[in-house]
Amino acid sequence: MDIDIEKLAIVHYPHPALRKRCETIEKFDEQLAAIAKRMLEIMYAGKGVGLAAPQVGLALRLIVLNPTGEEHDGRIYVNPAIRDMQGNVEAEEGCLSLPGINVNVRRAQRCRIVAQDLQGNPIEHEGSDLLCRIWQHETDHLNGVMIVDRMGPTDRIATRKTLRALEDQFGSKAAG
Ligand code: ZN
Repeated sequence: MDIDIEKLAIVHYPHPALRKRCETIEKFDEQLAAIAKRMLEIMYAGKGVGLAAPQVGLALRLIVLNPTGEEHDGRIYVNPAIRDMQGNVEAEEGCLSLPGINVNVRRAQRCRIVAQDLQGNPIEHEGSDLLCRIWQHETDHLNGVMIVDRMGPTDRIATRKTLRALEDQFGSKAAG
């Protein structure tokens, strides 16, 4: 795959890249490392705590996050999968691909993530609360799932106008 890493940028709902099921990564090369590094930069610039590859238009199973916001706490997971979900808590979430949208999402309170690092080595971590929530949110993206698919009826009504505005914006961009 030939990717212009400098040109990567966040895509917004309803961009079709956000609805694709992403492909398993098999090549652990310099390009992959460069993509992950660039994604972290884009995430920080957007003041986000996590970012998935489809959010920059790439159909790859790659997520980056920083749950503490501290320097050098950027984390990269290749081909992540969520396991052993336990508990159930609701909390507000936003998404860099859904500007202006904050909705309550019910997620497991504790889980494990199994993935690979940039060299292809297996990694496995256990987490709870915010960390576990970010893992689930970002891994959802790799299957084309967004928070608007998980919100309840109240948020559905509250976000209708903002979603429609994003749709109009995307439509006018696509047209011209
Ligand atoms: Zn998101």
